[in-house]
Amino acid sequence: MKVPEGGHSIEEVLREIEGWKNEHCTPGSDGFYYCKKTGVQVNQTTLLASVHIAEFGDQHAGVGKVVRIALPYCPICEDEPLNPITCVHVPMPLVREG
Ligand SMILES: [Zn+2]
Ligand SMILES: [Zn+2]
Repeated sequence: MKVPEGGHSIEEVLREIEGWKNEHCTPGSDGFYYCKKTGVQVNQTTLLASVHIAEFGDQHAGVGKVVRIALPYCPICEDEPLNPITCVHVPMPLVREG
């Protein structure tokens, strides 16, 4: 799938990934996902999301933290996203806690 755009919450990014899986994949009984079109097992790569402070909005300012999110992609229908990066915007109190 294409790398989620920056500037959203972690929940929104995870929802986008779930949405992609629901649209493009069939879950197998083995716990893996399979492409609806080609039947091949969907791969996963690691999406690195810089944690930015939501209150800073378009400044995209963060605290140097990165969260890793599993990003699925079909090895036949699309190219592997190379070094996928994005950013997630998290409210300041939550950034401080983590
Ligand atoms: Zn950002
Ligand atoms: Zn596919």
